[in-house]
Parts: sequence; structure tokens; C-alpha cells
Amino acid sequence: MRKTSITKNLFFLIIFVFSIFSFVFVVAKSIFNDSDDSKSIILIIGDGMGLPIITAYDYYKGEYKNQGYSSFSKFDGSFLVRTRSEDYVVTDSAAGATAFATGIRVKNYQVGVMKNGSRTPTIMDIAKNNGKSTGIVVECTLTHATPAAFYSFSKSRSDDDTIARQLIYSNIDIAIGGGFEIFQPYIRELEKQGYKVIYGEEKLDKIIKSNEDFRRLIAFTARKHPPKYKERRMDLASKTSYVLSKLSKNRNGFFLMVEASQIDWYGHENKLMEQLDEMEDLDKLLDVVISYQNSNPNTLVLVVSDHECGGLSLIDKKANKFSPEFKVNYSSDYHTAEHIVGFYKGFIKPKPIIDNTEVYNLMYEYMR
Ligand SMILES: [Zn+2]
Repeated sequence: MRKTSITKNLFFLIIFVFSIFSFVFVVAKSIFNDSDDSKSIILIIGDGMGLPIITAYDYYKGEYKNQGYSSFSKFDGSFLVRTRSEDYVVTDSAAGATAFATGIRVKNYQVGVMKNGSRTPTIMDIAKNNGKSTGIVVECTLTHATPAAFYSFSKSRSDDDTIARQLIYSNIDIAIGGGFEIFQPYIRELEKQGYKVIYGEEKLDKIIKSNEDFRRLIAFTARKHPPKYKERRMDLASKTSYVLSKLSKNRNGFFLMVEASQIDWYGHENKLMEQLDEMEDLDKLLDVVISYQNSNPNTLVLVVSDHECGGLSLIDKKANKFSPEFKVNYSSDYHTAEHIVGFYKGFIKPKPIIDNTEVYNLMYEYMR
């Protein structure tokens, strides 16, 4: 009699333990599957950001401003990138961004790739086809070479109108940047495609504070290009934080491209302080994306540049500290051919030197 009751109890105990294990297994499996489908990518492009300006900013922040060295040191690792275009060793931003967006090298001044009568899918199109949300944040017009390469095709990067019309039917969920003037004739069409369209950083600030919900958003921060960093109302960090809060609602993940657009412009003009200011904007952005990635490890963060600009060298042999007075030399008012440095945070293992087209491969493989 007693033996039967022990056997019975043992039987129920086994059933109970088995049920607990099955439950834990099912929950773990669902969590695992969910995270597997929800990979996100944040691609940050420092336009014209060569190693010399990274060096200058690192010393400037760490030893002149005493704020600790730059946030590049918080990444998992770095690699070098060959920046050439199809026709020249020195690339322009259109060919540079097209290599990142499509994995294909094109001639300078061309954005995107057309093959067999249709546009080659960009990494952003592929993300969208995988059910992810997409976003772009830039400090130039939304039709400028770098953002354009992610959603449009044109033989000439300066064909703003053609590029603008392609944005209307693009896969972008949120875009923040300049160029209201270029898009003015197409506001109705944008609204028909489900976009809420706003103009001005003040309006954007209001939208952010109100936490208003909408399906798609295009926020124009300037009529043409936004002004330089010190004259902008909002920094890249705050715009990007907002976009991340929206895009991360999609359980399938997202693709976001953020460009610190104006490092390049002050490289062209050989203005060190302005370049350092734009680097500060980028550095603050890095803190935002690094902490996002720490709490969302299923995210790949890549920081790259399309090319160096200005041929900057830091040559003050008498200085024992970097300061704005540090003697520098700019050898060019255009881009140069040096490899650039890429940084990554997330589960990838890039080779030490890769082609710019392989930046696309890193993202594509990560998303698969
Ligand atoms: Zn440039």
C-alpha cells in the first residue's frame, strides 16, 4: 500500500519536473527566436573623417578639455578601409556612400546603382524587405550624396530633383535632415505616402517632447543645408535618441544611417576648429549608440568614413599638449586617398583591411 503511494508520488514528481523543464525550454526558445529575428544595424558615417582629425579630436577632448579621450575607445574593435571609387583612387562622397549602401563600386559623382532597368537594392531596401524599420539622420540636405545613395539612383549626385522624387517612394520610415526647399513641390505627395512632414528644428523639438505617434516622419531641419554645429539647435545625439526610440518599437529590428556630414566641409575649407566642433557632435552621438548597444546587444554599430578630407597633418614638434593653437598643415582642399578607420561594436569579426564595398558585406551578413 505504502509502496504504491511512493510510486504514485514519484510519478507526479517526474511529470511536474518535466513540465517545468518544457515550460522553461519553450520560453527560452521563444526569446531566442525573437532576438534572432530582431537584429538591428546602426551605421554612422563621419563624412571626410580621416585618422588625423580623429587623432586631433582625441587629444583635444582628452588633454585640452580634460574630458577623457574620445568615445571611439569604447568600441569593440577597429579596422582599416580602402576608400577608392571605380575610376579614381581618390573617391567622392557619392561613390563612397554607394559602396557602403550597395556593395558595388561606381564612378565618382554617381549615387546608387541601376542594373537591368531597375535600382540595385540598397542595404536599407534589404532591411525593409526583412520587415525592419528604417531611418536616416543627417546634417546636410536629405538629397546630398551620402543619404541619397541609400534610397535613390542618379548618374549625377547634383540632380536634387530626381533624387528627391525617389525619396517619396522610398523605404524610409523616419528621415531628419535639411533640404525643405528641394522637397517643397512634393509635400502633398509625401503626405499621400503616409509621411508626417514638418519643417524647422523647433517643430521637431516639439514633436519629440509631445511624443506624438505617426506612421512615417520627414523632419526638415533647414531650407538648404543645416548650419554648423554651434548654430544648430539640436545635436545629432538628441535627434538620434529620438529616432532610436521610434525605430526600436519594431520587433523585427531596424536599419539606421546617421551622417556627421560637415566634418568634410571644414576639411575642404581647412578649418580645424570647425572640424573639431563637428567631431564633438559625432562623439556625443557615439555615447548614445554605445549605451543603446549595451542594453540591446542584438545591434551592430559601425562607424566608418567615406574618405579623408584636407590632407591634415599634425606637425607641432614644440608642443607638449594639443590645443587649438597646435600647428597643423592641410595639404589639400579636397579629399585624399588614405585608408580610413572603421570601428565596430557587436558580433562581427572584420579583417584588418577591407574594401569600402565590404562594409556592405559586413552589414548584409550580420542581417542574414
Ligand atoms: Zn567632400
